Amino acid sequence: MSNIIKLLPEHIANQIAAGEVIQRPASVVKELMENAIDAGAEKIQVVVKDAGRTLIQLIDNGKGMSEQDALLCFERHATSKVQTADDLFALRTKGFRGEALASIAAIAHVTLRTRTSESETGTHVTIEGSKLILKEECVVPVGTSFEIKNLFFNVPARRNFLKSDNVEFNHIVDEFERIVLAHPELHFSLKHNDQELYQLHTGVLRKRIVDVLGKSANDKLVPVDETTDIVRITGYVGKPEFAKRSRGEQFFFVNDRFFKDIYFNSAVNKAFDGMIQQKMFPSYFLYLEIDPNKIDVNVHPTKTEIKFEEDRSIYSILLSSIRQALGKFNIAPTLDFDRETSFDLPLSMKNQPAVEPVISYDPEYNPFQSTVNRQSSSAVRSDNSSALRAEGFGNSQPTPEDWQQFYKIEEEEQAEPVQLEFEEEEERIKGSKILKGKFMFTPCKSGIMMIHLERAVERIIYDELMSDFISRPIASQKLLFPFTRDCTNAELREWTNHAQLINRLGFESIVQGNEVHIHAVPAILNEEQLHECLNMLLANISFKEIDKGEIAHELIRSIAVSSSKNRTFIDQDEALQGLIDQLFSSTEHVYSPSGKRILNTLTLEEIASKF
Ligand code: ADP
Ligand code: MG
Repeated sequence: MSNIIKLLPEHIANQIAAGEVIQRPASVVKELMENAIDAGAEKIQVVVKDAGRTLIQLIDNGKGMSEQDALLCFERHATSKVQTADDLFALRTKGFRGEALASIAAIAHVTLRTRTSESETGTHVTIEGSKLILKEECVVPVGTSFEIKNLFFNVPARRNFLKSDNVEFNHIVDEFERIVLAHPELHFSLKHNDQELYQLHTGVLRKRIVDVLGKSANDKLVPVDETTDIVRITGYVGKPEFAKRSRGEQFFFVNDRFFKDIYFNSAVNKAFDGMIQQKMFPSYFLYLEIDPNKIDVNVHPTKTEIKFEEDRSIYSILLSSIRQALGKFNIAPTLDFDRETSFDLPLSMKNQPAVEPVISYDPEYNPFQSTVNRQSSSAVRSDNSSALRAEGFGNSQPTPEDWQQFYKIEEEEQAEPVQLEFEEEEERIKGSKILKGKFMFTPCKSGIMMIHLERAVERIIYDELMSDFISRPIASQKLLFPFTRDCTNAELREWTNHAQLINRLGFESIVQGNEVHIHAVPAILNEEQLHECLNMLLANISFKEIDKGEIAHELIRSIAVSSSKNRTFIDQDEALQGLIDQLFSSTEHVYSPSGKRILNTLTLEEIASKF
């Protein structure tokens, strides 16, 4: 047989690489803005037409490029930022892979005009689908201007995958905001379809935040400032009463680079514990400065996930510095600082009675007062939001107010309110009957409460796993024989993309060819459940658009669902008492993590109407 392996032509290789780096117009905006900052620009203008489909233009007054660099910059792995492997560990620049321009040039029409201060004239280069079309001298100011037209002109699949202009432009704004919030010392502007949306003059961080979010932000920012040997944390958190129904205003930066982190996010949530209503998200703009040797930004191609060597210490520093900031500004009246040294979250909520909150409250301050009526049914019922709250787990010990609030909302919304008062506390199980090993019926004041036991177990396991997950990797158990599963390319890609997260869930795996070999699994799963769990995991991780928190929710839900399946429960079982207690100590015992009803009440009236 003749040899059949060939090297891919460079322009095809670039097109493939482009798929990783450039997913949508917003990715182009991000890469070009970052390049301009790396080039030392002080003023960066972004001009966009039709949400970036027809034009993305970046003009900067940075150091510019020589004629040779203006050609070289479009080569793959062409970068001025890394020369030796050691450089990789001391990076201060945003780019370093030398992939962005090669990728963009492979899938768009690109015009570059650039000049350095050493040269009288500039260079004008046009490239279409990696092909050099034109190179000539030109007259331009010092700096660089990129025009990207007809993005994805030769990749119809990508083009068709783009969402509406609205959605795509929102992505652009997200990227723009993440960068401008990291650099208040630089001047930025953004124009869309000839309309100027942002004109951000240089100034202090507070001014930048206010310029981006609007004037009303000024009154709600509480400064955070903490310097330790490990990390310096500065920035602002929003006052609790300004917490939002979405996570739109949550920003972490490390060494001026935006990143997302579910674990650190849970530290912030914990700092706000008891001060904000459930399903609400605190605003934060937190800037970490840390020795670049102690982080790894190389984990993800689009670089929003970052590995920290000392993540546990940073977690506790974050928690205490935010609590201190809130305390200093009299937002959290008296704080018990003993508690925050133990940032390990409770392992289990088993048999946990309603615990008095450790934070003592300002009698004047009612965090729920102004927001009660705005809570919508979707916010209460949406399972995602419960998962996200669980992610924070700051609310794992609901305060009495939380409980009241929770039921108040439930009652307002439900035709049949759930009554949880039992005739006698200890009678919960005694008077209960189990039907078909699946449902529990218990008399309560208003009638009969029915509990779907499998779903109750799903909720309990989910809560425990989520609580474990955010404080440490989930307990794992080695398999005697590795379990092998065939995967599609897309599944393999997602598995690899989320490898870090999947490991934290207790899996140990190796990808070989198109198979995943699993060597260890979360201890809670037995071998029978593993197969179904993997199917669910793989089906649930292919969410390109959702963030890490939601992926974690989906993955943990998959484990909880598969490990709670096909259980039967026996009458008067002692374990049942524990199970019911655990269910009621969960903050979300009405709905399972999959959004299905766990309990319901058959009211006396309903029972009477049967006769
Ligand atoms: P990276 O940023 O990873 O180095 P890029 O493909 O984004 O890779 O850019 C390649 C090189 O082109 C950069 O290293 C830099 O030398 C040069 N470059 C890109 N954009 C600019 C700019 N706006 N001004 C000056 N030089 C630039
Ligand atoms: Mg770059």
